[in-house]
Amino acid sequence: MQQFNRPWQTLRMESSLSQADLLNQLIEEAEAIVIGIGAGMSAAAGFTYVGKRFTNAFGDFIAKYRFFDMLQASLFDFEDEQEYWAFQSRFSLLNYFDQPVGQAYVDLRQMLAGKNYHVITTNADNAFYAADFDMDKVFRIQGEYGLWQCSEHCHQKTYQDEALIRQMAREQSDMKIPADLVPYCPKCGAGLEVNKRNEEKGMVEDAHFHEQKERYEQFLKENQDKKVLFWEIGVGHTTPQFIKHPFQQMTEENAKALFVTMNQKEYFIPHAIRPQTVQIDEDIADVLRVMQVNNGGH
Ligand SMILES: [Zn+2]
Repeated sequence: MQQFNRPWQTLRMESSLSQADLLNQLIEEAEAIVIGIGAGMSAAAGFTYVGKRFTNAFGDFIAKYRFFDMLQASLFDFEDEQEYWAFQSRFSLLNYFDQPVGQAYVDLRQMLAGKNYHVITTNADNAFYAADFDMDKVFRIQGEYGLWQCSEHCHQKTYQDEALIRQMAREQSDMKIPADLVPYCPKCGAGLEVNKRNEEKGMVEDAHFHEQKERYEQFLKENQDKKVLFWEIGVGHTTPQFIKHPFQQMTEENAKALFVTMNQKEYFIPHAIRPQTVQIDEDIADVLRVMQVNNGGH
């Protein structure tokens, strides 16, 4: 497959380079890099939502509800708030407060050091923070597992209480937390819930969210005429409106831009940007590791 776009010297050597070296050279050549991170990246870093990581933490919930994976389970309509928080407290310890460092994220951070880049992610876990990213360069567009919002969205503010989450996890029994630990909205008295977007009501977007959004949009604006690498990693097709479609659109609008999609599944690429598209289909964690090694570890 010959994918050739004149502004990118690297693409003339595409067929002779490994995918890792191709990406390294594209990063070197880019004037700006916009990285879009989806669930596939966290899975590559070991934060999978299936298998032992799921069954070890949620055997009781799986027995009761026959859940297939942790994401489906986290969106389930539990029978009451005590059960909801029994699940969510364990979930947010696993995927946020106690989330370990993911090597794929560390590799990514190291290879981006000194580069002109910005990140947008649909992941609500804490992987970027755990890997010591500069959080001023990361936009979490789908909320954070460690934050709460009013379930009625009555006001645009989020809350966090790690100590209470730990108490909920510790003091629950039979998949219920004690009733007096259930948190309520200080304004309207409705139950609080984990900060996330849903189809009907959207998401509570607080001041911190808007700061992240402005920094991201500012970066896009400042670099819009440059040789921009739009690089998506592990972005599937559940919410294409946040990363995939805007990346494709911005690539189409900038003849110097390049769209790199890194995913083992193949997704449809619009005809208009096929000459500006590079598909990386090898294992995400492997490619990032080799990139980092071949990059001399700086
Ligand atoms: Zn409220």
